[in-house]
Amino acid sequence: MKNTHSLNTPKLSGNFDKTLLQRVAREFGTPLYVYDFDRIQEKYEQLKVAFGGRKTMICYALKANSNLSVIKKLASLESGADCVSLGEIKRAILAGIPKYKMIYSGVGKQEFEIKEALKIGILFINVESKEEMLLVESCAKKLGIPARISVRVNPDIDPQTHPYISTGLKENKFGVSIEEAKGMYLLAHQSKYLEPIGIHFHIGSQLTKLKPIAESAQKIAQLTHSLLALKIDIKFFDIGGGIGITYSDEATINPYDYAQAVLGELHGLDLTIICEPGRFIVGNSGIFLTKVLYQKEHQSKRFVIVDGAMNDLIRPSLYNAYHQIISLVESQSVSPADVVGPICESGDYLGKNVSLPPLQNGDLLAILSAGAYGFSMASNYNTRPRCAEVAIENGQIRLIRKRESIEDLVALEKDYL
Ligand SMILES: *Cc1c(COP(=O)(O)O)cnc(C)c1O
Repeated sequence: MKNTHSLNTPKLSGNFDKTLLQRVAREFGTPLYVYDFDRIQEKYEQLKVAFGGRKTMICYALKANSNLSVIKKLASLESGADCVSLGEIKRAILAGIPKYKMIYSGVGKQEFEIKEALKIGILFINVESKEEMLLVESCAKKLGIPARISVRVNPDIDPQTHPYISTGLKENKFGVSIEEAKGMYLLAHQSKYLEPIGIHFHIGSQLTKLKPIAESAQKIAQLTHSLLALKIDIKFFDIGGGIGITYSDEATINPYDYAQAVLGELHGLDLTIICEPGRFIVGNSGIFLTKVLYQKEHQSKRFVIVDGAMNDLIRPSLYNAYHQIISLVESQSVSPADVVGPICESGDYLGKNVSLPPLQNGDLLAILSAGAYGFSMASNYNTRPRCAEVAIENGQIRLIRKRESIEDLVALEKDYL
């Protein structure tokens, strides 16, 4: 991740072109997220094909982009869902994902959430600690519904990504060590109310190197062999998500190589592979459109103030993440500018040193690769209504989330005045 502009010229591709985006902005206003649903399908299918003949289930990680229409699109492609809250499970249900294709992960699940997941009858709960497993067991006992579980194992491998999105090192809060996992599986195996059917790891996000994934798969495959030898009937080998995408010019993992790297470690194991991609499916499939409000120069520093802000797209502020930004007006001459939002924080920027042509107020900028962890991380900071979301599919444009109103924002407070 970097905060200076890259040398290659960013381009719009797929369903996105300048004329169309101008039209969408005129019709729905800005700021605005626009998603290319055909690209979402293409990415899903790339991964599906990569795992080829093997029994595989792709469980889209909802947290990357949890718009109901996005989930419904993936449900129509037979995707499952990786959920990290009861709210996400409810979204998956609303969007038509079958319960037997849902898994539930996260370090801090609460009793009411676990009970609800058991009642719904999802595929399995990914437990992340021994304490949590014991709570799942007691919930299962109270309800008289045995709980299918998998244990999230932390393979202690450096995923070589941004520290905030690294999860597979022993200093990260996620999962349990291989040793501890063994003990948990033995305990679960003896419990009347626990059915350990899966094994899980997820080492981080925006992974661009295969080696850490292959090494993790190897460690977890070894553990699986020893569990099978103990007659613990593991059926699902869940390799998590995390496949990186290109934000600027970084080389990423090819889905075919990814599948081969994992499959290469699974000799002699007849298991269903689960993968949980989020960013890979939706990241490059979305852009964020914003309009120029004002421009100014301090000394020789050029600022472009736009109507989109860190509450809409927090990745630059939060992770110093880089997004390509292009102007929808053409010009040969460019100069570097910081693209900043209206929020009262110096960290409120969308891009730094972005090469931009001379702009008029009202001109549009497209922030690329904003489909993942964009809207799903949006907030109402500064009492800014969250923006609208639009889908483009098969040449058709449609609204998939209305722009919030200020009424919406005060609705839960105004009765207490
Ligand atoms: C966030 C997350 C994912 C998805 O990560 P991406 O980098 O978006 O692919 C998958 N599995 C789990 C358990 C997660 O927490």
